[in-house]
Formats: sequence, structure tokens, C-alpha cells
Amino acid sequence: MSQSGMITSGPGIGTGLLTIDVGAVAQNWAALARLVAPAECGAVVKANAYGLGVGAIAPQLEKAGCQSFFVATSDEAAEVRALVGPRASIYVLDGLVPGSADTLVASGAVPCLGSLAEIEEWSARAVQERRSLPAVLHVDSGLGRLGLSGDDVAALSADERHLEPLDVRLVMSHLACADQPAHAKNEAQRAEFDRLRGHLPKMPASLAASDGLMLGSAYHYDLVRPGYGLYGGQAFRGGASPVKPVVKLMLPIIQVRDVAAGESVGYAAAWHALKPSRIAVLPAGYADGIGRGASSSDDTSGGHVLIHGQKAPIAGRVSMDLITVDVTDIVPPVVRGDVALVIGEGLSLEAAGRGSQTIGYEVLTRLGQRYRRRYVDGSEGT
Ligand SMILES: *Cc1c(COP(=O)(O)O)cnc(C)c1O
Repeated sequence: MSQSGMITSGPGIGTGLLTIDVGAVAQNWAALARLVAPAECGAVVKANAYGLGVGAIAPQLEKAGCQSFFVATSDEAAEVRALVGPRASIYVLDGLVPGSADTLVASGAVPCLGSLAEIEEWSARAVQERRSLPAVLHVDSGLGRLGLSGDDVAALSADERHLEPLDVRLVMSHLACADQPAHAKNEAQRAEFDRLRGHLPKMPASLAASDGLMLGSAYHYDLVRPGYGLYGGQAFRGGASPVKPVVKLMLPIIQVRDVAAGESVGYAAAWHALKPSRIAVLPAGYADGIGRGASSSDDTSGGHVLIHGQKAPIAGRVSMDLITVDVTDIVPPVVRGDVALVIGEGLSLEAAGRGSQTIGYEVLTRLGQRYRRRYVDGSEGT
């Protein structure tokens, strides 16, 4: 059955239905893996698989063939270890956060070490454990966030004893401007990454996330680390990436109101009807991840939903549990029990992000906990 075929209006969607196509996540991973072969394709499942539910998604990715998982924190590593087999690698992007070593050791995770202090602490732990511990060296090629500086790398290469207790699996770095394919920083960071790698022992390398891997094979190295793309996001402003949507969010219309010209709608009376209007009320708000940035006083500057496939702009302020949308021009006329699409076909994560003065990543990772969640496999039977 098609995904749209199985979703009905009315009681089936509760006060909001979030449909997550885990089959599409696995297919997206496979499509990116084909694109970057012979490089390996990992999967970034941090932040609860970008809010979609790591418990449902990590095992699907492993079944599809993924063997390298990336998380942000040691607690996330422990969570993922319980979901995937003992042979899968789990890399911790935030590195060795003070106090996290026990959890990292217990879950057999690989911290991405981004400072000499982290290398020292992890090496000391390895000596204490009387075995080598796995590690990634994270070098800063120009993002200016985490990572070993050029001076740190020089210090390491001058005295490699620091690395002796470690089983260094990978050298990695992260791009700042990969969504803009023509940005000069991409090539500059790639050159700096190569320069820094030249001072280190020869080992596998990883530079690209979802957007970086779209910049071409020169950016693939041995392992790529897509996250957002697996979940259907396409921030890359070059060619279309071979991924398909994963998320669909629908809300029921709980009330339709007539508003006379001049009357206001919502908090702060921020929106006024310019003509006799019809306003539909939907039962989700900023507590559900529909950001206040989607508010609008004029039907043009904020977010929108789709009803009967037509745009219904958010009218007025987004409140905690409700939004109001202008349905004056929608045909056939909107009635209680109709369904509004908040994310899905015709309303991409990118569009939803723009409408909320943010990016699709934030929309995705903030999807609320109050929606009914339905995990489907849209690839079944195809
Ligand atoms: C989050 C993250 C990724 C994944 O980025 P996407 O843009 O979601 O593909 C990869 N590498 C690092 C270092 C990250 O922090």
C-alpha cells in the first residue's frame, strides 16, 4: 500500500501524526553508499537519529549494510551499542568530554579526539586498561570548532609517543561551507586536510558529511558521514542528491472560524484580517517544534501548511499548542476534520525551515514528542 493511501483523515491521525519511513532511510543510505563507492558510507545517528528515533533507525541501517555509526555523545554511543552488533564501529563526534571515558570504554566507542588534552587523557586510560584503545584524530581544517590545530598536529608528529597506546583508526575533519558547492572554502579545507594528514602516520581519512559527499569523489576519501541526507534532507545547493523524503507530518483542523475585516487573530493581536477571512485552528505549536519564527503578521513572512494541496499561510503568532492558518482562498472550503500537511510532499524540510526562519535540520531535530508516531516501510512490496 502506498504511504499516502494508508493515511486517512479523522481519528487515525489523532492530534497530529508523524509518519517516518524507515525503509526510505535505509534506501537513502544505500543510494549514498553507491554514490561514494568504493569509499565506505557511515551513518550519523546523533540526537536520536535527528529526532526520528534511533531505536527504529539504527537497526535498519545495520541491516542495510552500515557498519560505521556516528553519534555526538558517549550516552548516545551506549544507546546505539545496545541496538547494533558488537562489530559495528560507533564514533563519538564530540570526542572525550570530561567524565565520559568510563561510558566510552564500556560501550566500545571510538572518541574523535580533537585536542592534545583529549589525546593525553585517552592514552593514559589505555595504559591503565593495559590495552590499546580505539580513537579517531579530529583535525581542524578550517571550521574553527573542534579539532587539532596545525600546531597540535606538528607537536604530535614531533613526538608520536602520545599515540602509541592508541589504535588510531581514522583521521577526520569537517567542512564549513559544503552546502555551497562554489564556495572557495571547500577546496581550501580539502587542501589543508591533506597538508595536516601529511604530518601524521598514514591512515584512513574522512572529510564529508551529506553535503560534502556531493562535492565529488575528491571529497570522499575512505569514509563519508552523512546524517541529514539519510533523513531526506537536501541542504546542498548544487545538483539534487539521490535521497527521498522520510518524514510526513499531518495535523487535523479542529476548528474553522470566520473573522471580520479588521479583527485580529492570536497573541499580541499580531495579525489583522484585511477582508472577511476564514481561519483554521490546528492542534500543534512551539511545544511540538513549530517554531515561533513561523509566526506571521501579513500572510507572507512566516510559515505555511498545505490543505487540499494549497498553501495556507500561518496567521499570527505560533502559540504553545496551537497554530492558526488563513484558509480564506482554499477550495473546496476547509472544514473541521480536514487534514493539513506540515511536512511532506510539496512541503520539504527545507521549505519548512525557511518558513520558520531556520533550517530544515532544526525543524527535523525539534519534531515534537506529542505527535503520534507511525513507523512504516514504504519500500515494502516494491
Ligand atoms: C552532524 C555531523 C555530521 C553529519 O552532518 P550532516 O550535514 O547531517 O550530514 C558529520 N560530521 C560531523 C562532525 C557532524 O557534526
